[in-house]
Amino acid sequence: MKLECERTELALVSPMSAAHGEVDRRVLLQVQLTGEDGAVGYGEAAPLPGYDGSDTGAVEAALRGYEPVLAAAEREGMNGPAVIEACRAVADIPQALAAIDLALWDRAGRREGRPLAAMLTDVPAATVPVNATLTALDRAGVAAQAHDACAAGFRCVKVKVGIGDDAGRVAAARAGAGPALDLRLDANGAWGVEEAVRAIDALAPAGLELVEEPTRGLRAVREVRERVPVRVSIDETAGEPGALGAGVADAVCLKVSRCGGVAALLAAATLVRAAGAEVYLASTLDGPLGIAAALHAAAALASRGPLPCCGLATLALFDGVADPLPARDGEIALPPGPGLGVEPL
Ligand SMILES: [Mg+2]
Repeated sequence: MKLECERTELALVSPMSAAHGEVDRRVLLQVQLTGEDGAVGYGEAAPLPGYDGSDTGAVEAALRGYEPVLAAAEREGMNGPAVIEACRAVADIPQALAAIDLALWDRAGRREGRPLAAMLTDVPAATVPVNATLTALDRAGVAAQAHDACAAGFRCVKVKVGIGDDAGRVAAARAGAGPALDLRLDANGAWGVEEAVRAIDALAPAGLELVEEPTRGLRAVREVRERVPVRVSIDETAGEPGALGAGVADAVCLKVSRCGGVAALLAAATLVRAAGAEVYLASTLDGPLGIAAALHAAAALASRGPLPCCGLATLALFDGVADPLPARDGEIALPPGPGLGVEPL
């Protein structure tokens, strides 16, 4: 298979602040895999330096390093998992491996004329519940965004915390959203244990669905969870060795890019659920191909257990991108086309 990689840069409509910094643009590395039969598949890496420890240049270099492996793969009769393992031997960078994994699934789906979700399970969900992300930094802006999300049919909104005026913005979100909406907070590991306990105790009266990554590290998260009256999930900490089966949180946020692909994510989800926690998926502000892959994986997971709202309604945050996967009434419908069901930008 021939691998081609193209770099695309997207701007956000407004900058997004989190405890790890401010994001105003995203670099996407879109890959195209073309087989000897001419069948094509598309994938994507969207490394987010500063958040997931990835580096765009390192991901690009890894993809270039995979070229000879992919060129030889068909000749050597390798299947998808064997291709991924051969690529991993060249450079074990999850975001780069995920890009190849997506392109292999997309290519297989296009050849078979089947959506990815239908290749993952017999009974994929038709839609995936998603949260809205409130990006405003001022109270009035947060309240207005929460109100709009509620009016658009979202049942859950997410607010970043650990970035200043948390109490004011969380209260504004609740005021704008009304009593019924689920309010999810994400601290991106900003707090120490004592600080997290104090902050969550203070914010809990607003009515919280869960607090994501209140602090960093398995031991610290376990302690916070034991001391607060709110459900706790891990996101960044889910990348630690042994985190998936540790049972330290009520839920685990998984990402296709950090897992290194769709199959690896489903395996991770099985481990999390076996340890008694719920799983939901999110993007790292991915492009359409990355969002589509997560939707297919989420649709497969929804058929096997409860699925809290996923953080996949993020394409609308980009400026000048026609959103091929819009949320309606708080859900995103699976694209019906073969493979990932969307085209590269
Ligand atoms: Mg998070």
